[in-house]
Formats: sequence, structure tokens, C-alpha cells
Amino acid sequence: MRQFHTIVVGAGPGGLTCAEVLARHGKDVLVLEKNRLVGPKVCAGGITWAGLIQYVDESLIEKSFYAQHIVSGWQNIMIRESTPIVATVNRERLGQWMVDRATAAGVNVLRGTAVREIFKNHISTAGEERFGYKYLVGADGSSSIVRRYLGIGSERVGAGIHYQVPGDFKRMEWHLDTRSFRTGYAWIFPHKDSASVGVFGDRRVIRPKELMAGFREWTQRRGINLKGLQPKAALINFDYRGWRFGNKFLVGDAAGLASGLTGEGILPAILSGETAAHTIIDENYNGEKLERLIHKQQKHTRLLEFSAKNRRAGRLIIEALIMAMRLGVIHFSALEMGESG
Ligand SMILES: Cc1cc2nc3c(=O)[nH]c(=O)nc-3n(C[C@H](O)[C@H](O)[C@H](O)COP(=O)(O)OP(=O)(O)OC[C@H]3O[C@@H](n4cnc5c(N)ncnc54)[C@H](O)[C@@H]3O)c2cc1C
Repeated sequence: MRQFHTIVVGAGPGGLTCAEVLARHGKDVLVLEKNRLVGPKVCAGGITWAGLIQYVDESLIEKSFYAQHIVSGWQNIMIRESTPIVATVNRERLGQWMVDRATAAGVNVLRGTAVREIFKNHISTAGEERFGYKYLVGADGSSSIVRRYLGIGSERVGAGIHYQVPGDFKRMEWHLDTRSFRTGYAWIFPHKDSASVGVFGDRRVIRPKELMAGFREWTQRRGINLKGLQPKAALINFDYRGWRFGNKFLVGDAAGLASGLTGEGILPAILSGETAAHTIIDENYNGEKLERLIHKQQKHTRLLEFSAKNRRAGRLIIEALIMAMRLGVIHFSALEMGESG
């Protein structure tokens, strides 16, 4: 059985960032990815400017936005800043760029290799191969096998459904329609020649069928033509319960680090992947940046929990939040997982 210093399960943004940092520090790292192609992922591809400029090459930008349009039951506002607030990236291109960097740093990436079982010091794959590890990183997304092995449940999970609609869309839009999406929202995130048009909702509050019905009705009202297009759906785990478990780590969606309010998970995945790697290298590493992100993520979760339990009060809070942003009392970055503005 071949031994590695660290095995990373999953070649998403979290896993690839973690593996690259470890390899740059001379560690022997293996990434196991179940899909043959690294990158494609059901995702709107929105990345906040803070996350983008720190971690992602600007050449990957599809479109960037200085203005955000937020529509609710009572308000329709535009927030504008002097630097871009959010940009969009194509997940397939982002994944290819990240895997090329990781490979150049010396990471071994085994594609088309699903991890099927985890043991104390080794893992086995669907193809009956076994690999030994000193450290294990679960970067395997919202239905993580590493998380299950650690006995951590996943109750706070959202469903995201989107269509890639062809056309030249100009505005980045967020629609917080509590009647149709409850605590969730629908979005239009423009890319180069298309837009991700989708909806996100807390599975405990609204069933995917209802969410979809509300979304279809909303697209019809907005005159968005989905005829002939296929929806794509995936889960977003925001049930954070820790990231460090002895010699095992969880990062990104596997750790439940996405925002339950917005679904933003790319930056949390990258930052937690980076922090896990540095902590493996030096157990006294100062992971303050991740701690601040977790603090924000927990705030989003508390707001969501309150809105889910108190429907009317929740609606008022959302309206008050939008009003405060309109008046400049609260910055748009309150919704972001990064530290811009
Ligand atoms: C509809 C939708 C829209 C979204 N829009 C945005 C957005 O605009 N902005 C944003 O920041 N976030 C968005 N997200 C969330 C974002 O996609 C995730 O938070 C992010 O991809 C998490 O990265 P990750 O590296 O943790 O996991 P992932 O990107 O999910 O990567 C996990 C990898 O692990 C692999 N894997 C899983 N199980 C195994 C196994 N057993 N063996 C081997 N490999 C395995 C998978 O194939 C995958 O490649 C959206 C999500 C959805 C569903």
C-alpha cells in the first residue's frame, strides 16, 4: 500500500488549495477525485472581489460588477461601489486553473477515483485500491464521506437549483421574495454569454418542489425563457461543527462552511483549505482569518434560524437589512464571507 503524508478527498477549490499549499511545503500529497474532469460543479460562479483578488487569477473573470441589485417584497435597491463587489467565474475553468497549479507544485491528482471507505490510517477506493495517510482532509463537498466517517450529521442543508441561460445579461440581481422562496432567494449572475439564473433555499424550511414551483413562477413573471434548458441542482451544507479532528480535517462544504444566507461557498472552501494545510504543517499556525470567516458564517446561520422560526419577524428583518444597506448603515460586505470594504 502506497503511503502519503496527506490524502485529500475531493478536487474542488477547498481540496486543491489545501493540496497545493502542502506540496509547496514539500509534503507528499495525493488528491482523489471521483470525477474524470476536475472543475464542473453546479454553481452560479459568483465570487466576492475580496476572495477573487486574494486567491484567483483575474484572467478567470467572466464579468465583474460594481453594482448589486437587490429586490424584496417592498424594496428595489441598487448598491454601487468604486471597486467591483462580485465577479463571476466559470467553475470548469477555475477547476482547470487550480488543478494545473496544484500539479505544477507536485500534487498527485488521481481523477475518476472515488473514495469508498475510510479507515484509521488508510482509505480504499471504488476500484479496490488502498492508500495510507498520516493526515486526511475531507474536501469532498456537501455529502462528504469523511464527514460521515467522523460521525458528524448534516441537518442545516440548502438546495440550489440553477439554469445557465444564454444571452447578454447586464445586471447582477438578488431577489429576496419571502413568499416564493421563504428564507432563500433567486439570483441572476451574468457570465460572458449567459447567466446563471437560479434559486437557493433551506431544505428544512421549504421543500425543493415548492422552491422550484416558486422559481418557475418568478422566471415567468420576469420573462426569463427556460424552454429547452435543463436545470441543475445540488446541496449546500452550512451545518458547521468544526474543521479539525486530530489528524483529520474537513474543509469547504464538507465542513459546512458555506453561508446559509447566500450560499457563498467558494471563498470559505479556499480559505479553509489553505488554513488546514498550514495547520498540518505547523500545529500552532494562527488561523485567525478562518476564525473570522466562521464567526461571520455563524452570524448568517443565526439570522437564518431566526427568520425560519419567526416568519413575519424574519421578513421584517430582511426588509430592515435591505433598508440599512440602502441607507449605507450596513455595508454589502455583511452578506459576504470575505473581508472586503
Ligand atoms: C446552485 C448553486 C449555486 C452556487 N453558487 C455559488 C456562488 O455563486 N458563489 C459561491 O461562492 N458559491 C456558490 N455555491 C456553493 C459552492 O459551489 C460550494 O460552496 C463550493 O464549490 C465548495 O467547494 P468545495 O471544494 O468545498 O467542494 P466542491 O466544489 O463540492 O468539491 C468537492 C469535490 O469532491 C469530489 N468528491 C465528492 N465525494 C468524493 C469521493 N467519495 N471520492 C472522491 N471525490 C469525491 C466531488 O466530485 C467534487 O469535485 C453554489 C452552490 C450551488 C448548489
